[in-house]
Amino acid sequence: MAAENLAVSRETFDNVILPVYAPVQFVPVKGKGSRVWDQQGKEYIDFSGGIAVTALGHCHPALVETLKSQGETLWHTSNVFTNEPALRLASKLIAATFAERVFFGNSGAEANEAAFKLARYYACKKHSPFKSKIIAFHNAFHGRTLFTVSVGGQPKYSDGFGPKPADIVHVPFNDLAAVKAVIDDHTCAIVVEPIQGEGGVMPATPEFMQGLRALCDQHNALLVLDEVQSGMGRSGKLFAYEHYGIKPDIITTAKALGGGFPVSAMLTTHEIASVMAPGVHGTTYGGNPLACAIAETALDIINTPEVLNGVDARREQFVSALQKINEQFDIFSEIRGKGLLLGAVLNAQHASKARDILNASAAEGLMVLTAGSDVIRFVPSLVIEPTDIAEGMARFARAIAKVLN
Ligand SMILES: *Cc1c(COP(=O)(O)O)cnc(C)c1O
Repeated sequence: MAAENLAVSRETFDNVILPVYAPVQFVPVKGKGSRVWDQQGKEYIDFSGGIAVTALGHCHPALVETLKSQGETLWHTSNVFTNEPALRLASKLIAATFAERVFFGNSGAEANEAAFKLARYYACKKHSPFKSKIIAFHNAFHGRTLFTVSVGGQPKYSDGFGPKPADIVHVPFNDLAAVKAVIDDHTCAIVVEPIQGEGGVMPATPEFMQGLRALCDQHNALLVLDEVQSGMGRSGKLFAYEHYGIKPDIITTAKALGGGFPVSAMLTTHEIASVMAPGVHGTTYGGNPLACAIAETALDIINTPEVLNGVDARREQFVSALQKINEQFDIFSEIRGKGLLLGAVLNAQHASKARDILNASAAEGLMVLTAGSDVIRFVPSLVIEPTDIAEGMARFARAIAKVLN
């Protein structure tokens, strides 16, 4: 049967998809810019950005153009053969960052898996096989492979899957003394999100990030920054580490890298990369020409003063609208985050209503996210129109009024 003849709906989800998600009660079928339409033709404003992925909105003309032209040229070669889009994208990422070598994957988890393996491998080759301790943080999120959930700081995501990779220590985020207490010469890496995303939209303080850099230097450990969510312009700079005046050893990027097409990258220095050799790590799809061509176009657009400088003005519009809503409803204790990675923290009286607000927003024609049970998260397109922000915030206010009544 032709795909378009098979009627599917939100109910179909409950019968055919592994029940690891609980999607909202509508099915998006079309998107343009920051607007989305469902099966019934109802229109939504998108403050969710596909979880910080569609940084240029839906179906950006330049991305569509690249998708079409590369789609008629070459999709996939495997890494037995290299390809021009991957080489161009790597060159541009290197030119735009601290990095000198790039590894491509297909998801954030894969980029992090590569980063953690590289950190361990580098320590093993350069120092000792016993230098394997990874220091990570409570509430951190690094992906869903067994290694990445184990480095992540939420046991509910890593329990129940058998023995975990060993020698991973978790300490409180933004607590330098706690890191000092556990770091030693057997530590190969500190892994941290410059802005914890899933864990509640919590930025690292400058003292914390600079302190981590100094501790890594003292103990010959690598500073690995997970910029899967904070990277690619989200914070108002291409990568969030630029806010902190530090140079990382490894960063990972994914979500917005392909503007909606699956692709990820791990970036590092020549010195660290030099321990690797053919066969030590790899992936079949990673760096395929279709993904890399689209990511190259996304990077060309995002890494411009127009887009990066526009982030702060849009943030201000979000923050002032949220403050107005708070004056009316007294529902938030804090608006936090950086750039267009925004968290509105519900105050004690309304804690745990985040999912209700998400659902009520959908009913009003607005897509938002949560980050934990008490934070509403906004990660819209970096080029969202001011009129869409205003209309979305009007819908958000109506949703909150409904939840509170
Ligand atoms: C989303 C996310 C990941 C995982 O990315 P996937 O593409 O879902 O594997 C890892 N780290 C951070 C910080 C993220 O936000």
